[in-house]
Amino acid sequence: MCFGVRDAIALALEHADAGPLTILGDLVHNPTVLSVLEAKGIAVAQDVAHVKTPTLMVTAHGTSGRTLARTRALGLTVVEATCPLVHVAHRAVATLARAGYHVVIVGQRDHVEVRGLTGDLDRFDVLVEDDDVLALEEYPRLGVVAQTTQAAQKVLHLVDLIRRRFPQSDVRFVDTVCKPTKERQSAAVEMACQADVVIVVGGRSSNNTRELVQTCARYCARVHHVETDADVRPEWFAAAQIVGLTAGTSTPDEIIDCVEARIRQVDDQIGAMPRSVAEGLR
Ligand code: SF4
Repeated sequence: MCFGVRDAIALALEHADAGPLTILGDLVHNPTVLSVLEAKGIAVAQDVAHVKTPTLMVTAHGTSGRTLARTRALGLTVVEATCPLVHVAHRAVATLARAGYHVVIVGQRDHVEVRGLTGDLDRFDVLVEDDDVLALEEYPRLGVVAQTTQAAQKVLHLVDLIRRRFPQSDVRFVDTVCKPTKERQSAAVEMACQADVVIVVGGRSSNNTRELVQTCARYCARVHHVETDADVRPEWFAAAQIVGLTAGTSTPDEIIDCVEARIRQVDDQIGAMPRSVAEGLR
Protein backbone atom coordinates (compact mmCIF):
# COMPACT_ATOMS: atom_id res chain seq x y z
CA MET A 1 0.00 0.00 0.00
CA CYS A 2 1.42 3.44 -0.90
CA PHE A 3 2.08 5.98 1.84
CA GLY A 4 -0.73 8.28 0.58
CA VAL A 5 -3.43 5.64 1.01
CA ARG A 6 -1.98 4.28 4.27
CA ASP A 7 -1.86 7.76 5.84
CA ALA A 8 -5.42 8.55 4.67
CA ILE A 9 -6.80 5.36 6.26
CA ALA A 10 -4.94 6.06 9.52
CA LEU A 11 -6.30 9.63 9.59
CA ALA A 12 -9.87 8.42 8.97
CA LEU A 13 -9.68 5.85 11.80
CA GLU A 14 -8.17 8.44 14.15
CA HIS A 15 -10.94 10.99 13.43
CA ALA A 16 -13.66 8.32 13.61
CA ASP A 17 -12.54 7.58 17.17
CA ALA A 18 -12.89 11.28 18.03
CA GLY A 19 -16.42 11.76 16.64
CA PRO A 20 -18.83 11.23 13.73
CA LEU A 21 -17.10 11.46 10.37
CA THR A 22 -18.16 11.47 6.73
CA ILE A 23 -15.76 10.81 3.85
CA LEU A 24 -16.30 12.59 0.55
CA GLY A 25 -16.36 9.71 -1.96
CA ASP A 26 -14.52 6.41 -1.53
CA LEU A 27 -11.38 6.77 0.59
CA VAL A 28 -9.74 4.03 -1.47
CA HIS A 29 -11.02 1.93 -4.34
CA ASN A 30 -10.78 -1.28 -2.38
CA PRO A 31 -13.95 -2.97 -1.08
CA THR A 32 -12.20 -4.72 1.83
CA VAL A 33 -10.82 -1.46 3.23
CA LEU A 34 -14.17 0.26 2.69
CA SER A 35 -15.98 -2.39 4.74
CA VAL A 36 -13.50 -1.85 7.62
CA LEU A 37 -14.29 1.90 7.55
CA GLU A 38 -18.02 1.20 7.42
CA ALA A 39 -17.73 -1.08 10.45
CA LYS A 40 -16.16 1.87 12.30
CA GLY A 41 -19.35 3.89 11.63
CA ILE A 42 -17.72 6.18 9.05
CA ALA A 43 -20.28 7.55 6.57
CA VAL A 44 -19.63 8.18 2.88
CA ALA A 45 -21.22 11.01 0.86
CA GLN A 46 -20.76 11.62 -2.84
CA ASP A 47 -21.65 15.32 -2.50
CA VAL A 48 -21.04 17.81 0.32
CA ALA A 49 -24.77 18.67 0.28
CA HIS A 50 -25.53 15.19 1.68
CA VAL A 51 -23.15 15.31 4.67
CA LYS A 52 -24.87 14.85 8.04
CA THR A 53 -21.84 14.95 10.37
CA PRO A 54 -19.99 18.11 11.49
CA THR A 55 -16.70 16.80 10.08
CA LEU A 56 -15.95 15.90 6.48
CA MET A 57 -12.81 14.21 5.21
CA VAL A 58 -11.35 14.75 1.75
CA THR A 59 -9.71 11.57 0.46
CA ALA A 60 -6.12 11.01 -0.72
CA HIS A 61 -7.43 11.73 -4.24
CA GLY A 62 -7.96 15.38 -3.28
CA THR A 63 -10.65 17.80 -4.36
CA SER A 64 -10.98 21.22 -5.96
CA GLY A 65 -10.69 24.57 -4.20
CA ARG A 66 -14.31 25.27 -5.21
CA THR A 67 -15.53 22.13 -3.40
CA LEU A 68 -13.46 23.00 -0.32
CA ALA A 69 -14.96 26.51 -0.27
CA ARG A 70 -18.49 25.10 -0.64
CA THR A 71 -17.81 22.67 2.24
CA ARG A 72 -16.54 25.41 4.57
CA ALA A 73 -19.47 27.65 3.61
CA LEU A 74 -21.78 24.90 4.94
CA GLY A 75 -20.02 25.20 8.31
CA LEU A 76 -18.35 21.79 8.07
CA THR A 77 -14.92 21.09 9.54
CA VAL A 78 -12.67 19.75 6.79
CA VAL A 79 -10.03 17.10 7.38
CA GLU A 80 -7.77 16.86 4.36
CA ALA A 81 -6.13 13.52 3.59
CA THR A 82 -5.08 14.65 0.12
CA CYS A 83 -1.84 12.87 -0.82
CA PRO A 84 1.11 15.31 -1.10
CA LEU A 85 1.75 13.92 -4.60
CA VAL A 86 -1.81 14.82 -5.64
CA HIS A 87 -1.12 18.33 -4.30
CA VAL A 88 1.88 18.43 -6.68
CA ALA A 89 -0.50 17.74 -9.60
CA HIS A 90 -2.93 20.45 -8.36
CA ARG A 91 -0.09 22.98 -8.19
CA ALA A 92 1.04 22.04 -11.72
CA VAL A 93 -2.50 22.57 -13.07
CA ALA A 94 -2.83 25.94 -11.31
CA THR A 95 0.59 27.15 -12.53
CA LEU A 96 -0.14 26.16 -16.14
CA ALA A 97 -3.60 27.75 -16.09
CA ARG A 98 -2.20 30.98 -14.60
CA ALA A 99 0.46 31.09 -17.32
CA GLY A 100 -2.23 30.94 -20.03
CA TYR A 101 -1.93 27.27 -21.01
CA HIS A 102 -5.04 25.30 -21.97
CA VAL A 103 -4.91 22.45 -19.45
CA VAL A 104 -5.09 18.86 -20.71
CA ILE A 105 -5.28 16.05 -18.15
CA VAL A 106 -4.23 12.54 -19.12
CA GLY A 107 -6.56 10.43 -17.01
CA GLN A 108 -10.01 8.96 -16.49
CA ARG A 109 -12.62 11.73 -16.94
CA ASP A 110 -14.92 10.49 -14.14
CA HIS A 111 -12.23 9.59 -11.64
CA VAL A 112 -12.47 11.57 -8.39
CA GLU A 113 -8.84 12.73 -8.65
CA VAL A 114 -9.39 14.09 -12.17
CA ARG A 115 -12.60 15.82 -11.09
CA GLY A 116 -10.59 17.47 -8.32
CA LEU A 117 -7.83 18.53 -10.72
CA THR A 118 -10.27 20.11 -13.15
CA GLY A 119 -12.82 21.43 -10.64
CA ASP A 120 -11.39 24.96 -10.54
CA LEU A 121 -11.02 25.29 -14.31
CA ASP A 122 -13.64 26.71 -16.67
CA ARG A 123 -12.05 25.17 -19.80
CA PHE A 124 -9.96 22.00 -20.00
CA ASP A 125 -9.72 18.64 -21.77
CA VAL A 126 -9.31 15.14 -20.38
CA LEU A 127 -7.93 12.37 -22.55
CA VAL A 128 -6.85 8.78 -22.09
CA GLU A 129 -6.62 7.26 -25.60
CA ASP A 130 -5.03 8.03 -28.96
CA ASP A 131 -8.46 8.88 -30.46
CA ASP A 132 -8.98 11.55 -27.79
CA VAL A 133 -5.92 13.39 -29.12
CA LEU A 134 -7.53 13.51 -32.59
CA ALA A 135 -10.61 15.15 -31.05
CA LEU A 136 -8.53 17.85 -29.33
CA GLU A 137 -8.83 21.44 -30.60
CA GLU A 138 -5.75 23.49 -31.40
CA TYR A 139 -4.52 26.02 -28.81
CA PRO A 140 -1.34 28.10 -28.99
CA ARG A 141 -0.34 26.81 -25.53
CA LEU A 142 -1.22 23.38 -24.18
CA GLY A 143 -0.27 22.37 -20.63
CA VAL A 144 -0.40 18.61 -20.03
CA VAL A 145 -0.62 17.06 -16.56
CA ALA A 146 -1.26 13.39 -15.69
CA GLN A 147 -3.55 11.74 -13.17
CA THR A 148 -1.04 10.41 -10.61
CA THR A 149 -1.87 6.73 -11.20
CA GLN A 150 -1.63 6.61 -14.99
CA ALA A 151 0.94 4.33 -16.64
CA ALA A 152 3.99 6.54 -17.26
CA GLN A 153 4.70 5.06 -20.72
CA LYS A 154 1.15 5.68 -21.88
CA VAL A 155 1.30 9.30 -20.70
CA LEU A 156 4.58 9.92 -22.56
CA HIS A 157 3.09 8.34 -25.69
CA LEU A 158 0.03 10.64 -25.54
CA VAL A 159 2.18 13.73 -24.94
CA ASP A 160 4.23 12.78 -27.98
CA LEU A 161 1.03 12.40 -30.05
CA ILE A 162 -0.17 15.84 -28.91
CA ARG A 163 3.17 17.40 -29.89
CA ARG A 164 3.03 15.76 -33.32
CA ARG A 165 -0.60 16.77 -33.89
CA PHE A 166 0.05 20.42 -32.96
CA PRO A 167 3.63 21.19 -34.06
CA GLN A 168 2.91 24.95 -33.99
CA SER A 169 1.71 24.91 -30.37
CA ASP A 170 3.80 25.35 -27.26
CA VAL A 171 3.12 22.00 -25.51
CA ARG A 172 4.36 21.94 -21.93
CA PHE A 173 4.23 18.65 -20.02
CA VAL A 174 4.53 18.33 -16.24
CA ASP A 175 5.09 14.69 -15.25
CA THR A 176 2.80 14.15 -12.26
CA VAL A 177 2.61 10.34 -12.32
CA CYS A 178 3.56 9.55 -8.70
CA LYS A 179 6.73 7.71 -7.71
CA PRO A 180 4.97 4.72 -6.04
CA THR A 181 2.94 4.18 -9.24
CA LYS A 182 6.07 4.34 -11.43
CA GLU A 183 7.99 1.94 -9.16
CA ARG A 184 5.08 -0.50 -9.00
CA GLN A 185 4.69 -0.41 -12.79
CA SER A 186 8.37 -1.04 -13.47
CA ALA A 187 8.53 -3.89 -10.91
CA ALA A 188 5.41 -5.41 -12.50
CA VAL A 189 6.95 -5.27 -15.99
CA GLU A 190 10.12 -6.97 -14.76
CA MET A 191 8.02 -9.68 -13.09
CA ALA A 192 5.55 -10.13 -16.00
CA CYS A 193 8.46 -10.73 -18.40
CA GLN A 194 9.47 -13.83 -16.38
CA ALA A 195 6.04 -15.16 -15.43
CA ASP A 196 3.78 -17.70 -17.16
CA VAL A 197 0.74 -16.37 -15.28
CA VAL A 198 0.32 -13.00 -13.54
CA ILE A 199 -2.17 -12.27 -10.77
CA VAL A 200 -2.94 -8.60 -10.06
CA VAL A 201 -4.68 -7.94 -6.73
CA GLY A 202 -6.83 -4.84 -6.21
CA GLY A 203 -10.25 -3.22 -6.37
CA ARG A 204 -12.12 -3.42 -9.69
CA SER A 205 -12.55 0.37 -9.66
CA SER A 206 -8.94 1.11 -8.65
CA ASN A 207 -7.32 2.99 -11.53
CA ASN A 208 -3.75 2.00 -10.72
CA THR A 209 -4.75 -1.68 -10.40
CA ARG A 210 -6.41 -1.59 -13.83
CA GLU A 211 -3.34 0.12 -15.29
CA LEU A 212 -1.17 -2.67 -13.80
CA VAL A 213 -3.40 -5.30 -15.45
CA GLN A 214 -3.01 -3.59 -18.84
CA THR A 215 0.75 -3.14 -18.42
CA CYS A 216 1.32 -6.78 -17.39
CA ALA A 217 -0.85 -7.97 -20.31
CA ARG A 218 1.68 -6.40 -22.70
CA TYR A 219 4.38 -8.78 -21.40
CA CYS A 220 2.44 -11.90 -20.34
CA ALA A 221 -0.49 -13.58 -22.13
CA ARG A 222 -2.15 -14.94 -18.97
CA VAL A 223 -3.04 -12.05 -16.65
CA HIS A 224 -5.88 -12.20 -14.09
CA HIS A 225 -7.29 -9.40 -11.91
CA VAL A 226 -8.59 -10.52 -8.50
CA GLU A 227 -10.01 -8.57 -5.57
CA THR A 228 -9.46 -11.30 -2.96
CA ASP A 229 -8.22 -14.91 -2.67
CA ALA A 230 -11.82 -16.10 -3.30
CA ASP A 231 -11.47 -15.00 -6.96
CA VAL A 232 -8.44 -17.24 -7.65
CA ARG A 233 -9.29 -20.14 -10.04
CA PRO A 234 -7.17 -23.34 -10.03
CA GLU A 235 -7.40 -23.75 -13.84
CA TRP A 236 -5.41 -20.53 -14.38
CA PHE A 237 -2.21 -22.23 -13.22
CA ALA A 238 -2.16 -25.28 -15.50
CA ALA A 239 1.42 -25.95 -16.61
CA ALA A 240 2.63 -22.69 -15.05
CA GLN A 241 6.22 -22.72 -13.87
CA ILE A 242 6.34 -19.16 -12.56
CA VAL A 243 3.37 -17.26 -11.16
CA GLY A 244 3.77 -13.48 -10.90
CA LEU A 245 1.99 -11.56 -8.15
CA THR A 246 1.48 -7.81 -7.97
CA ALA A 247 -1.09 -5.44 -6.48
CA GLY A 248 -2.53 -1.95 -6.78
CA THR A 249 -1.25 0.67 -4.35
CA SER A 250 -4.52 0.61 -2.38
CA THR A 251 -4.42 -3.14 -1.67
CA PRO A 252 -3.77 -4.11 1.98
CA ASP A 253 -0.84 -6.48 2.60
CA GLU A 254 -3.11 -9.02 4.34
CA ILE A 255 -5.16 -9.45 1.14
CA ILE A 256 -2.03 -9.93 -0.97
CA ASP A 257 -0.75 -12.51 1.56
CA CYS A 258 -4.08 -14.40 1.39
CA VAL A 259 -3.91 -14.45 -2.43
CA GLU A 260 -0.34 -15.76 -2.32
CA ALA A 261 -1.37 -18.46 0.19
CA ARG A 262 -4.30 -19.43 -2.07
CA ILE A 263 -2.01 -19.74 -5.12
CA ARG A 264 0.32 -22.03 -3.15
CA GLN A 265 -2.67 -24.05 -1.89
CA VAL A 266 -4.02 -24.46 -5.46
CA ASP A 267 -0.56 -25.60 -6.48
CA ASP A 268 -0.68 -28.34 -3.83
CA GLN A 269 -4.20 -29.35 -4.88
CA ILE A 270 -3.56 -29.67 -8.60
CA GLY A 271 -0.14 -31.21 -8.08
CA ALA A 272 1.56 -28.69 -10.37
CA MET A 273 4.83 -27.27 -9.20
CA PRO A 274 5.24 -23.58 -9.88
CA ARG A 275 8.95 -22.91 -9.51
CA SER A 276 8.20 -19.74 -7.60
CA VAL A 277 5.79 -16.91 -6.91
CA ALA A 278 7.61 -13.83 -8.22
CA GLU A 279 6.58 -10.59 -6.54
CA GLY A 280 6.24 -7.35 -8.45
CA LEU A 281 5.59 -5.15 -5.44
CA ARG A 282 8.50 -2.76 -5.23
S1 SF4 B 1 -1.09 6.34 -5.65
FE1 SF4 B 1 0.46 7.97 -5.56
S2 SF4 B 1 -0.69 9.88 -5.56
FE2 SF4 B 1 -2.16 8.25 -5.07
S3 SF4 B 1 -2.20 8.19 -2.84
FE3 SF4 B 1 -0.64 6.71 -3.50
S4 SF4 B 1 1.30 7.87 -3.49
FE4 SF4 B 1 -0.36 9.35 -3.43
